Amino acid sequence: MNPEEAAELLLRDLRSSRQGVSSAEARRRLTQYGRNELRRRRGRRWPNELARQLTHPLALLLWLAVALLLLVGSLIVATAVVLIILLNAAFAFVQEVQAERAVDALAQYLPQRAKALRDGEVQEIDASELVPGDIVVIEQGDRIAADVRLLAGAIEADMSALTGESVPTLRSAAILDVDVPVLQAHDLVFSGTNCTGGEARGVVFATGMRTELGRIAALSETVKQEPSPLERQVRRVAWLIAVVSLALAAAFVPLATFGAHLSVVDALIFAAGLLAGMVPEGLLPVITLALAVAVKALATRGALVKRLSAVETLGSTDVICTDKTGTLTENRMSPVAVWTTAGPTDLSNWKSAGSSSGSPTLQAAARIAAACNNARLHPGEETVGDPTEIAVLLAAQTLGADPDASLREARRRWQFHFDPELKLMSTVDQHGDELVVHTKGAPEAILPLCNALLDKNGRQVALDEAARRRATGQADAFASEGLRVLALAQRVLTQDGRAPHRRGDVEHDLCFVALIAMLDPPRPQVSAAVANCRTAGIRIIVITGDHPLTAAAIARRVGITDGQPRIVTGDELDRIHEHQIGELVRDAPEIIFARASPEAKLHIADALRDQGHVVAMTGDGVNDAPALHSTDIGVAMGRSGTDVAREASTMVLTDDDFASIVEAVRSGRRIYDNIRKFIIYIFAHATPEVTPFLVFALSGGTVPLALTILQLLAFDVGSETMPALALSREPAEPGLMKRPPRPRSESVIRAPMLLRAWLFLGVMVAALQMAGFFYVLVGAGWHPGAPTGPGEPLHHAYQQATTMAFLGMIAGQIGTAFAVRTQHVSLRSVGVFSNRYLLAGIAGELLLAAVFVYAPPFQALLGTAPLPTTTLLLLLPYPFVVWGADELRRYLMRRRSHRAVPPPPPPQHTNQP
Ligand code: ATP
Repeated sequence: MNPEEAAELLLRDLRSSRQGVSSAEARRRLTQYGRNELRRRRGRRWPNELARQLTHPLALLLWLAVALLLLVGSLIVATAVVLIILLNAAFAFVQEVQAERAVDALAQYLPQRAKALRDGEVQEIDASELVPGDIVVIEQGDRIAADVRLLAGAIEADMSALTGESVPTLRSAAILDVDVPVLQAHDLVFSGTNCTGGEARGVVFATGMRTELGRIAALSETVKQEPSPLERQVRRVAWLIAVVSLALAAAFVPLATFGAHLSVVDALIFAAGLLAGMVPEGLLPVITLALAVAVKALATRGALVKRLSAVETLGSTDVICTDKTGTLTENRMSPVAVWTTAGPTDLSNWKSAGSSSGSPTLQAAARIAAACNNARLHPGEETVGDPTEIAVLLAAQTLGADPDASLREARRRWQFHFDPELKLMSTVDQHGDELVVHTKGAPEAILPLCNALLDKNGRQVALDEAARRRATGQADAFASEGLRVLALAQRVLTQDGRAPHRRGDVEHDLCFVALIAMLDPPRPQVSAAVANCRTAGIRIIVITGDHPLTAAAIARRVGITDGQPRIVTGDELDRIHEHQIGELVRDAPEIIFARASPEAKLHIADALRDQGHVVAMTGDGVNDAPALHSTDIGVAMGRSGTDVAREASTMVLTDDDFASIVEAVRSGRRIYDNIRKFIIYIFAHATPEVTPFLVFALSGGTVPLALTILQLLAFDVGSETMPALALSREPAEPGLMKRPPRPRSESVIRAPMLLRAWLFLGVMVAALQMAGFFYVLVGAGWHPGAPTGPGEPLHHAYQQATTMAFLGMIAGQIGTAFAVRTQHVSLRSVGVFSNRYLLAGIAGELLLAAVFVYAPPFQALLGTAPLPTTTLLLLLPYPFVVWGADELRRYLMRRRSHRAVPPPPPPQHTNQP
C-alpha cells in the first residue's frame, strides 16, 4: 500500500476527507469525543499532599516535642502543639493548592490555538475544540495540539516532550512506515511536540487523553517543581533557627531545674513549648503564596510568569535585551513610501487613479508586493498575517495590484518562506506564460543578489555601482527616519515549465525593482517604561533583526539611547570572537545589535551571563528558543510569537509590550521586599517569646514566668500567619524603581534584617511586655521571690500579670507589623491605612485575643484573667511606641545616608556587577 492509499483509508475510517469536517459535524464530534484536553488526576492527590505537610522536617521537629510532652505526661501542652502542627499543615496545604491554582489559571490567559480546515476554510480555533477527523495545518513554530497523520508536506518536529530526544526529526506525509513503534512512524506527529520547520497538512486521529501525551499524563503525576533559590535560602535559615531554638530549649532545662528549682518535668514541658513557639514553620507556605499572588496579579497586567521562582529572579534583573518590532513598537505597520529609480512616491497622498499608476516600474513593484506575500485583506474585516506583509500588501493595493489571496495562490508555484537568517522571502509565480521569481527582504540582503535594475521605463538594465549606492543611500535615508525598509526584486525564469525547489537556484541574478518604507510607531507606554529602567539601574540592549539606522532611530525616540550608541551589525558580530562580545557589551554603555541573527542572541545572552548579569531577553521565533531558554528570564510574545518560543520562555507577554517587562520587574522587586518584610515580622516575635523564660531562669526562679507556655502557643497561632500573609500584599515602597538591582548573590535574609527583628523590634516588644507584667504584679504587692502559685494570695494578680504580658506582646507585634511595612521611607509615604488586608488581619488578631482572655474555657486553659479597663488602656500606646521608635530609626538612617552620599548624579545606565 502506498502512502496515498493509506491516507485515504484513514480518512475513511475517521469519516473525514481532505476538505476536513463541517463546523456542525465538529460540534457533534466534540460532544462524542470530549474536549481536546489533558485531565489531571487532582482529586486523589490531596491526602499525599497533606501527609507531606505533616511530615516535612520542621513538622517532624514539632512531633518530637509532642513525643517529649507525652512522655512527661503533659497532655494539654502536647495537644496544643499537635493543634499547631495540624493548623499549620492545613494552612500550608491550602496555600499550596491556591498557588498551584494560580499557576494553572495562567493557561486560560493564553489558550492554545490550532489551524483547522472547517467548512472548507482554514480557521484558527481553540485547540481544545479539535476533533478526530479535523484537517489541521501545521507551520513552523506551531505546537502540535493533537495526534496527527500527515497528508501533505513535511515538517521537522521537536519530539523532546515525548521522547526526551531534542534533535528535531523529519516527519513527512510521503514516508509510510510499517511495523515500527508508533512514536517512530515518519508520517505521524504528536500532541505536545513542536514544529521547528516546514509546513504540512494532516488529519487528527486522536485528541485529549487518547493522544500519546495523554497516555503519559495518565501514567505519571505532574512534574515536581524544583524549589527556588529563595525557598532554599529560607529553608536553610528556618533550619538554623530550629537548631538555635533546640539549643535554647535544651539549655533551658538545666538552667530551670538547677537555677530556678523547677521540676525536670516542668522544665521539659517549658522547653518543648518554647521550641514549638520559636520554630518558624509557617514561613515557607507564606512565601509560596506571596509568589503565587504576584504571579496572578502579573497575569492580569499582561505578563504570564510560568514558574513561581521566576518572580524573584525578575526582581534582580539588571539587563533587558529587547527586540524592536512589536515590543518597542506597535507592530502595526503602514506603508508610507515606495522608491524606484524614478524617485520616491509618497503612498499617503497617492491616488492611484490619475497619477502615474501606469509607471511600469511601480506596476512591477506592486505585482511583487502582492505575489510575494501571505497576508490577507478581507474588506470590512480584520486583516490576517504578519504586520510587515500586511503593510506590503496594502502598498500593492494602493499601487493598483489586486491583493486577492485566491488569485495569488492560483498563480503561486512555489514558496521559500521568510528566513530570519537570510532576511528574505521568495515565491515563484506564473505570470502570463512566464515563471517569475518574486523576492522581498532586507535591502542589504537583496541588493547583493541583484545584477540588474528596472529603470524608470520598466526596462531591465545592468545594476552599476552608482545605482547600487543610490539604492543603499535611499534605504539608509528611510531607515534613519525610523522607517522599516524592504527591497523588492524579481527574475524571469528560463522556461522549462518547472519551478526550482532549491532556494539557491532561485535567489540569484535578481533584478532590483523598488524599496518600500513602512512606519511602525513606538508604543506610547514605552518611553515611560524606559525612563523607569534608567532610574532603576536596568540596562536596555536592543537586539533586532531590523536595519541599524531604523533601530537607532527608534531607540533614540523611546529614550533608550541619548548619545551615540555603538551599533553592532550581525556581520560584525559574526566576525568577532565570542569573548569579544563580552568586552563589547561591557565597554559600550549604549549598544544596539542590528541585523542580528537569532544565534547572535544566544551569544550575547551567554556573554552577559558570564559577567554575572541577570538578563531578561525577548524573542518570538523558533530560532529564538535556545536564547530564551538559556537566559534567566526568557520573554516570549503572546500575540506575535510562535508556540515554540512561548514554550521555551519563562514569561509570556500577552500584549507583547515592553512596558509589561518593566512592570514585571517592578512586581518582582516589590514581592521580594514584601517577603523580607514578613520575614522580619515573623522573626521579631522570637525575642518576646524567649524573654520571659530567660528572666525566669536567670533570676533563679525569683521572677515567675511572665507567660505561660499555653499563652505562648496561643500567641503563635493567633499572631503569626494572618498579618504575615497581609504583609505580602503591601504596596510598593516609593523609590522601589530608583534603587539599583539587587545583586544575584544577595541572600533574602540579611544580617541587618535579623538585627532589626531580634535586637530592635523584638527587644522593644519584650521590654514593653515585661514592663506590663511587672506593673500589674508589683501593683498587687509582689516582691521578688514572693510565691504566685495556685492557692497563693498573689495567684490572681499573677494571672492578670501574665495576661498583661500576653496582651502586651500582641499590642507590641501590631506595632511591629506597621513598622516593617517600610524599609527606608516613613509609613506616611505609603499610607498608614493602605493595606486593607493588614487591617483585617489585626482586627482578627484582636478578636482572637479577646476570646483568649474573656471566654471562660480559654481562661481555664491559658490561665488568663480579665484586666481592669485602666490597665487595658495602658496597652494602647504600645503599638505606637514600637512603630514610632522604628520610624525614628528609619528617619535617622535616611538622614545619615543623605549626608554620606552626595546628591545623586543624573540617571545613567549602571552596569551592576
Ligand atoms: P525584531 O528582531 O526587533 O523583532 P524584526 O522583526 O525586524 O526585528 P525579523 O523579523 O528577524 O526582525 O526581520 C528581519 C528583517 O527581515 C526585517 O528588518 C526585514 O528587512 C526583513 N523581513 C521581515 N519580515 C519579512 C518578510 N515577511 N518578508 C521578507 N522580509 C522580511
